[in-house]
This record gives sequence, C-alpha cells and structure tokens, in this order.
Amino acid sequence: MTRKTRVRFAPSPTGPLHMGGVRTALYNYLFAKQRGGDFIIRIEDTDSQRFVPGAEKYIIEALNWCGIVPDEGVDQNGQIVETASERHPHAPYRQSQRKGLYRQYADQLVEGGFAYYAFDTAEELGAKRAEMEAAGQTFIYNQTTRMGLRNSLSLPESEWKELLETRTDWTIRFKMPENRVVKMDDLIRGHVEVNTDTLDDKVLWKRADELPTYHLANIVDDHLMEITEVIRGEEWLPSLPLHYLLYEAFGWTETQPRFAHLSLLLKPDGKGKLSKRDGDRLGFPVFPLQWINAEGEVSRGYREDGYFPEAFVNLLAMLGWNPGDDRELFSLEELVQAFSLERVVKSGARFNADKAKWYNKEYLRTKSVEDLTDLYIPVLEAKGITITDEAQTPDFAGKTFSKDYVKRIVKLIQERATFVADFWDIASYLFIAPTSFVEKDAAKFWKEENYTLALQVADFILGFEGEFTKESLEGPLEEYIRSNEWPMGKVMNCLRLALVGASSGLGIADIVTLIGKEEFAKRIDFIKATL
Ligand code: GLU
Repeated sequence: MTRKTRVRFAPSPTGPLHMGGVRTALYNYLFAKQRGGDFIIRIEDTDSQRFVPGAEKYIIEALNWCGIVPDEGVDQNGQIVETASERHPHAPYRQSQRKGLYRQYADQLVEGGFAYYAFDTAEELGAKRAEMEAAGQTFIYNQTTRMGLRNSLSLPESEWKELLETRTDWTIRFKMPENRVVKMDDLIRGHVEVNTDTLDDKVLWKRADELPTYHLANIVDDHLMEITEVIRGEEWLPSLPLHYLLYEAFGWTETQPRFAHLSLLLKPDGKGKLSKRDGDRLGFPVFPLQWINAEGEVSRGYREDGYFPEAFVNLLAMLGWNPGDDRELFSLEELVQAFSLERVVKSGARFNADKAKWYNKEYLRTKSVEDLTDLYIPVLEAKGITITDEAQTPDFAGKTFSKDYVKRIVKLIQERATFVADFWDIASYLFIAPTSFVEKDAAKFWKEENYTLALQVADFILGFEGEFTKESLEGPLEEYIRSNEWPMGKVMNCLRLALVGASSGLGIADIVTLIGKEEFAKRIDFIKATL
C-alpha cells in the first residue's frame, strides 16, 4: 500500500529557531510538496524546564515569513488550531496539550517487558555517578548498572509496587536490550549499525509532571500522525537506534517512517557548527528574525537585516543541497520541483556570508521599482523625510518629496544595492544637501585650476534651455567640456564634490536633473562659501 507522504517539522520551543532549523523545515516542506503530500508542524514542548516564552510564536512567524506554511499545525494563518477537524485531524499539535494520551503507551511498553519503573532520585543517581567516576568509570543507566539501581527490575515486586503508589517522582525507562546490533537505514547516510551495549535506558515518561520525554512523545506522535518520512538534524542520529527499537516494541515497524538526517551548517571556516557567536563575531545573522531574550539581548535576524524572504529561502536551500547543475537561483516553487533528498550532501555545509548577500542582491535586482519604492519609503520617513503621493518639485528645505521622485532614484540605483537600506547610503544626497566635504576628495579636486572651470560648467547647466532631463542634458554637457578641451574627470569630480560632498556618486546629469536647478545653484553657492 502506498501511503500519502506526510512529513513534519517538530521544533521544541526552547528559544529562537536557528537558520539550520529553518533549513530542516524547508527541506521537509519541499519534500512534501513535491510529492503532493502534507507538511505538519508539531510543537514538542514536553520539556517544561527548557520552555522559553515566545519561542513558539517566533518559530511560526519565522516559517510564515519564509512562506513555509503547514497543511496541519498549531497555527493556520494566525488562526490557532486547538481541536481536531477534517483539516487538522490530529489536533492539537502541541504535545503539552496531548499530555493525556502518552501514559497508555508507556504502560504498554512496561506490560510488554520493554520498559520498567525507576525510582532513583536525582541525588542517588548523582552519587552513583560520582562513585563510578572516582573509580575511573563512566556511569550509564543500562544493563550493566540497572540491577544495582532502584527500579522494578531490581526491587522485589511488593516493594516497587508500593513505591509506585506512594512516590510521585518515578519514571518509566526503556529497557535497552543487551548486545543487539540495530540495523538502520538513513536516506542520506545509508546503512548504519549500532550495538545496543553502547546505549542507555532512556527515560520515556515522568510521574512528576506526568509528561513523556521527547523520545516517547516523538515516536507516538509520528505514528499517530501517520508520518512517512522523518527529516531532521543529524544531532538526532544517536537517538535513531532507540527510535527503531521503540517502533519494534510497539509493533509498528510496518508503518515506521523512513529517516533522513541532515548534516550541520558549519562556520564559514568549516570548523564546527555555525553558532550565534559566529554571527556576532563575523557580522551576520544566524536567526531568521530578530530575537530579544529575557535579558534584553538582541540577536540579529535576516528579516530585520533587510533580507528578502525569497533570498533567505534560496540561500538556505543551497546550503547542503544542489540541483546537480550550476543553477543557483530558485523560487520556492522551483525548489519544490527541483529538490531531492538524494542530492542532499552528507558532509556539513559551510556558511558563506558573502554568498548570502549575493543572493539578496540578485533578488533585489529582480524586484519591481514600485515594490522597492514602497520598501524604501519607510526608511526615508525614519530619516524625517516626507513622501507625498502627489506630484511635487523636490523640496529640500521642507524635506518633502514625491513618490515619483523616489521611484526615479530607486530605478537609478537598484543595480548598485544589496539591501533596500543601501539606497540611503548610496544616494542620501538626493534628499539632503551635503553639509561637509570628504577632506581627501576636496584636497584632491577642489583646486583653483579645476573649480574655475567647474563653475563655468555649472553656469552652462543653469543656463541650459533644453528639456531638463538626463537624456537631453548629458550630451550637450559633455560636448561643452570637451569642446573647451577641459579635463572631463577633474571638472566632473569638482561638481560631484559640490553635489554629493564626495568625489564618488551618480553621474552629474543624473543628479542635477533630479534635484533641479534651484537646489543645484544652492549647492554650488555653499561649496564656494565653504571651501
Ligand atoms: N523536538 C525535536 C527538536 O527540537 C525534534 C527532533 C525530531 O525531528 O525528531 O529538534
């Protein structure tokens, strides 16, 4: 029987989602959509000690920003899904709200002899650990130690039954079989074998909070939610033998999902896992959205840094997957078509901040002037500039400009920018006159032999009677300088100094036709009075 593809992203709300986590969600999403399957978001919040308020909301918001929208999950376009419906047959999708259903599965394992009750307190376990470490050994709760510990295998039945009634801090542990080789298959890593003697008796359920641990809840929910493939980070590979054994113990091997463990995102130098600290140190975000923790510390986000979600998704997809040819630009829809787990690399994927920026620049180039203008206007407003919808000549004194003026600028500088915020750095002088001049540029170009000529060129521009557009001004302007045999570069740089405050910037004809003759004249007067 072929089953409908159903995959899930199962984050624990223990903090903001790292970009590696977003990549895991993305690969799950692509895999599901390519096969016409379902993508589910399940919140694994059974570890109350590690719960961070706001983390779940952050995760959902980050995935929505990326366009990674679930078919089933805790939140559907801002609607909270609490109860089961045709659309969300397995709701709730938050494990804390599914609390009641796990105990019976833990009991089933105990009854079948696959698990047992353990009564050791944290202190007792700590003492045992210290004792073994003092003897040069490492403590692991498994077949070699369990009979010397306090559990339903080592204690007389009457005793543990009483403890079960009277104590409220016991746990149910998995009874790891002795000396068995677990044979596993991973869609990315191939065949893997592990001997159970290297594994411990993991806690599956805790009486204290009546909650399952990750392992039990994860397996039970994957089974109940009819998950066909588990695609997750390689940090879960060590748990895979236990998960295989749990499927076996429950008698669910027929429908056991296939597994794919994704390699880590590595630091730019390839040495170790990409961490928040690398981001802070080298100046790039490692989180999709900005995150402010309880101490008020701010971690940068791709969204707030000005990345387009399409660029972020594209660059993430390429970190660990390739299409097999040299294509680099993919929309989400194109990724759905092209993605395959077979082309996901086994080795870690090295993060490259320059490449991330390159992606954004590529996406910025393809955006419409209209869209970029809409994105740029808030940046301008934050600088105290007013943008009007009506036509209006640029008003530098009143800091008021028309939207059309902004559009003309965006069109001119779009190709030069990586982020929308760069527009300001590239051409803020099109909104505010320079109040000072880059010293080194002034020293180099504002020399009498140059500026006397430049001032004559300025008069030519001010007296120009043709249409005051770049197209009609540029030719005659250059012709004027050339026919006088004046040094073109030096003269232009002198004018640029007056207009920009520096010797780099847009072409003179572009600038003057944008700002207008009046403002041009003012800037010439200002530089004359200042330098
Ligand atoms: N809750 C686990 C996590 O936080 C999920 C691991 C899995 O996908 O099985 O990563």
